[in-house]
Amino acid sequence: MSEQITSAKDVAENLAEVRASIARSEADYGRKVGSVTLVAVSKTKSAEEIAPALDSGQRIFGENRVQEAGEKWPGLRARFDGVELHLIGPLQTNKVKEAVALFDVIETVDRESLVVALAKEITKIGKHPRLFVQVNTGAEPQKAGILSEEADAFIRLCRETHGLTISGLMCIPPVEEPPSAHFALLGKIARRNGIDVLSMGMSADYDEAIQLGATHVRIGSAIFGARPAHRAHG
Ligand SMILES: *Cc1c(COP(=O)(O)O)cnc(C)c1O
Repeated sequence: MSEQITSAKDVAENLAEVRASIARSEADYGRKVGSVTLVAVSKTKSAEEIAPALDSGQRIFGENRVQEAGEKWPGLRARFDGVELHLIGPLQTNKVKEAVALFDVIETVDRESLVVALAKEITKIGKHPRLFVQVNTGAEPQKAGILSEEADAFIRLCRETHGLTISGLMCIPPVEEPPSAHFALLGKIARRNGIDVLSMGMSADYDEAIQLGATHVRIGSAIFGARPAHRAHG
């Protein structure tokens, strides 16, 4: 797979197609119109490649690296109002200060050291980004996220011990497995913890995710085109 530069016209068309397809899935599965939020994943794409999506009205974006987002988004935010930025990649504790300042939603809360650092920074600057817990539903050793069987205790720890508001759950199913069981599992963990926001589904599987209750789908390549292979997943 070679890197492609997707033209502004292609981005606008792809975005329109993805939006239409999300609306179709909402209708097909009896989901409320507009109940699924599109997070346009712009990782590895330049500000110049992202701008056409903003021109087409898209305002919610996902990035997987704090430093890269910090380089691109302050400039884009100066040009476009109402941007909402989601961190969808692993967060190192030494980047927490920058991440809390930069992101509106951090989707990848997954360990106590990170929770401690987030709670400290949030208290210090008085800004509380929305926080999602990432669950490693496939128990993949190389993947970030709390294990499914530890999720309830971890969510309780975030809320009760560290005073954080956890508003959503996120997962990235193993690439080699059908995703549906993972989406269903995430929904089950969410329900028993009183959470109604589910970030699940990417370019290849967002229809199934919507069927199983996704409220946020994170879609990159279907909008912006292919990425260099070595940075495909955060
Ligand atoms: C890259 C990425 C996506 C988007 O993947 P596509 O297959 O390009 O839609 C979604 N979620 C996470 C966490 C990612 O890192």
